[in-house]
Amino acid sequence: MNRHTVSCGVSRRTLLQAAVATAPAVLSTVARGADNGKRKAQIAITLDLEMSRHYPRRGMTEWDYQKGNLDEATKRHSVEAAKIASDRGAVIHFFCVGRVLEQADVSWLKQINELGHPIGNHTYDHVYVLAQKAEDIQFRFRRAPWLIRGRSIEQVLRENIRLTTVGLKQRAGVEVNGFRTPGGFANGLVGRPDVQNLLLDLGFTWISGKYPRHKTGPPKTEPTDEVYADIVRAQKEAQPFVYPTGLVEIPMSPISDVNAFRTNYWKLDYFLKAIGMSVQWAIDNGGVYDFLCHPSCMVVEDPEFKTIKMICDLVKQNPDRAEIVGLDKIAHRVAK
Ligand SMILES: [Zn+2]
Repeated sequence: MNRHTVSCGVSRRTLLQAAVATAPAVLSTVARGADNGKRKAQIAITLDLEMSRHYPRRGMTEWDYQKGNLDEATKRHSVEAAKIASDRGAVIHFFCVGRVLEQADVSWLKQINELGHPIGNHTYDHVYVLAQKAEDIQFRFRRAPWLIRGRSIEQVLRENIRLTTVGLKQRAGVEVNGFRTPGGFANGLVGRPDVQNLLLDLGFTWISGKYPRHKTGPPKTEPTDEVYADIVRAQKEAQPFVYPTGLVEIPMSPISDVNAFRTNYWKLDYFLKAIGMSVQWAIDNGGVYDFLCHPSCMVVEDPEFKTIKMICDLVKQNPDRAEIVGLDKIAHRVAK
């Protein structure tokens, strides 16, 4: 265990204890999904480019209506994260809300693109792709329903996704790389072949939309060993799979930044411990870990990029067993 991870409060012993605690569940995953452990673990670091409610301070909820109106601190943090990853030979997979492309300056996004980091589609307005009623699609359209009046939910979703792909290309020169659903769903898109087919029709072969259930413990409380163990357990529910339509799903791996910090008021050390244990699980089992965070949250909660650096360090310590990749590379392996 290197100096950095020790300073973050994640000890080798803690990681081993977590691995032992989840061993029986792990073995079946190894046999099924990872060629008896011969495959390299694939670790992804993903940043969703949007504003998050209650950041940079509690009570800020206007972002619900302006998800793409990124503030300067969020954009700076995103570029800095990209540079840190590049310096370490790693890649970050970004997912961008299309409305940010209406801002005066998009040079920051071009910079990320030019560094070689993949950028995917996160819809134009952060729309809810499982919506059954027009008012559930997005806050913006609840306030301004005339923007979508007369159109079906399917038409609104299709246009919201299509325009993001077009805008990223026209304004920032970005070739869209994959799709992430706004919000994560415990069952992903299971039972929604209509949404799967919509995304396939829009040219996506893989998406990231599932976020499995797990324990967190009560808010403002240090997580117990049981909570940490349950987050590690949930990693096997966060492994990639193929929907019956042929669309590949690469779930988000718990715990997300907004779940830990915004919903549960975690301290950074708790978060680092949970992420460290989970990444170690993936490394030990030839699995996938898809780290999900938002620069609008992390610029406040982890301004020194400790989490991203820790993930890079864990992979670097295991060069024969793990690699940091974009989600497209994970999807390619799943589809084979
Ligand atoms: Zn989002």
